Amino acid sequence: MHKVTASIAVLLAMLACSGGASAAGAHQHGVARLTVAAEDNRLELELSSPLESLVGFEHEPRNDKERKAVQAMKDSFRKPEALFVPSAAAQCTASPAEVELPGGDSKDGHADMHATVVFECKTPAALKGLEVKLFDSFPRLQRLKVQLVAGGKQSGTELTRQKRRLAW
Ligand SMILES: [Zn+2]
Repeated sequence: MHKVTASIAVLLAMLACSGGASAAGAHQHGVARLTVAAEDNRLELELSSPLESLVGFEHEPRNDKERKAVQAMKDSFRKPEALFVPSAAAQCTASPAEVELPGGDSKDGHADMHATVVFECKTPAALKGLEVKLFDSFPRLQRLKVQLVAGGKQSGTELTRQKRRLAW
C-alpha cells in the first residue's frame, strides 16, 4: 500500500510540475486539465484551467463586475459537491477546495487557476466513478483532459460537455 501511495504522490508531483512549466502560453482556452486519484478512502482531484474558461478573462480584475466574477468562481469551489459528484454509494464528502489564482498580470496575457479538492469516502469499495458538473457552472469550458489514477492503474481520457462521467 505504501508503494502505491508513493507512486501516486510522485505522479501528481510530476503532473503538477509539467502543468506549471507550461502554465501560461501553452494553454488552450476552453480546455482544462483534471487529475483524479482514488486511493483507499480518499478521492483527490486537481484541476488546472485557463482562467478565461472560468471567468471570461485572464487579467487582474479591473472593475466590480470582474471582481464579482472571480469571487463567484471561488465561491463555487467552496461547495465542490456541486461541481464533482462521486458514486453516491461511496458516501464521499468534500472539504472546500483550495483555489490558487495567479497574482498580477502575466507577460503573455494568459493565466491559469489551480484547485485541489479532496473527498473522503465512507464506503470506498463503492467508489467507481465521478460525474463532472463543472461544465454546468462554467459554460466557456469545453473539454477536460483527465489523468485518472485508480486501482493502482493510470489512464488518460477526455471529458466534454456531452461526456461528463468517468468510470473505473
Ligand atoms: Zn489564456
